[in-house]
Amino acid sequence: MRGQGFDTRAIHAGAEADPATGARQVPIYQTTAYAFRDADHAARLFNLEEVGYIYSRLTNPTVAALQARVAALEGGAGAVCCSSGHAAQIMALFPLMAPGRNIVASTRLYGGTVTQFSHTIRRFGWSAKFVDFDDSEALRAAIDDDTRAVFCESISNPGGAVTDIPAVAAITDAAGVPLIVDSTLATPYLCRPIEMGATLVVHSLTKYMTGNGTVTGGVVVDSGTFDWSASDKFPSLSAPEPAYHGTVFHQTFGAMAFTFHGIAVGLRDLGMTMNPQGAHYTLMGIETLPLRMARHVENAQKVAAWLEADPRVERVTYAGLESSPWNATARRLYPKGAGALFTFAVKGGYQAAVRLVDALALFSHVANLGDARSLVIHSASTTHRQLTEEQQRAAGAAPEIVRLSVGIEDADDLIADLDQALARATA
Ligand SMILES: *Cc1c(COP(=O)(O)O)cnc(C)c1O
Repeated sequence: MRGQGFDTRAIHAGAEADPATGARQVPIYQTTAYAFRDADHAARLFNLEEVGYIYSRLTNPTVAALQARVAALEGGAGAVCCSSGHAAQIMALFPLMAPGRNIVASTRLYGGTVTQFSHTIRRFGWSAKFVDFDDSEALRAAIDDDTRAVFCESISNPGGAVTDIPAVAAITDAAGVPLIVDSTLATPYLCRPIEMGATLVVHSLTKYMTGNGTVTGGVVVDSGTFDWSASDKFPSLSAPEPAYHGTVFHQTFGAMAFTFHGIAVGLRDLGMTMNPQGAHYTLMGIETLPLRMARHVENAQKVAAWLEADPRVERVTYAGLESSPWNATARRLYPKGAGALFTFAVKGGYQAAVRLVDALALFSHVANLGDARSLVIHSASTTHRQLTEEQQRAAGAAPEIVRLSVGIEDADDLIADLDQALARATA
């Protein structure tokens, strides 16, 4: 059968007309539980012998439609939605990790992720080692016998650097560990990490995927291609699961093992479930993802080029600009564009950066990104505030730097707003 194009899948994947009513848009199944046909049906569902709906902490038809859609867009075997992007990260790591195990993570990550990995996961006995993923030797050396995952962002927050995913995947493949890519900033429109060798893709659906700042959500997409049984490193998937009468997930569910484990164990016991109303909004947002992302990128390119040419600006870090060290990688691996999030340094340092943020009128000063609206934030005093100055600099969030999430308004209006704010900030 001829495969459907990306734009068609963005509208149709996972969303047949409702079998019960014919409703054409995916209904919000606002229900906690589902009637069993009889006692035998209930027993089969609880034994994982039949796939179906039991209780909305595990599965819900509206959320299931979103899972199917994101899996189809990423080219994955399956997906599990969660209550937030941060929940998705824990859900991705949970089946892989155990006390004493570590992950190797890129230094260029969303500030909240650096905090989650540096501090919070230690409570589970897990740890993270941070390395520069452009340094293949350092990455290879950091992976040890206790490493159970390697984690990076495709396009990184806040600096907008792009990761050479095939190069990283070659290293993780050789080491026999899964590669997890947070592709929140790229979305599957700009980058499909699984096609480049990633094992798992996580998203904050809060951002571009929903696209209008209404929902907090996340998702873990599994490629279905990692051999969990090739070593004894991943017993949650390759060894008998005591809470399911000794079911071996990889043996029983094959390419769906990680996804079913995510639902049957992860959501069951951690409970980081997405709600059906949020899933409905995200489904509607994804319908226009290709149109929005094309415009986001077009505007970002114009705004970044204008800023770079302005004498009041010290530097702009956008992989879409030739001045970026990541421009060649962006052209090669991200041909539809390098995203719409980048940073720039204003002449005049910290004080000018803060004045600029206050002087902007059309850009909203918020701790979010990927909205249709243009957004701005001073990362060092907000999202990256928990980090040391050294970590801030490594993450591309130095004190003199302002981060823009370029929206889909008229580019000329965005440039006019930046022009007046720069005049006030550097006066
Ligand atoms: C926002 C964000 C997250 C966290 O997502 P939440 O939905 O806010 O929990 C993770 N990674 C990146 C790159 C993000 O931008």
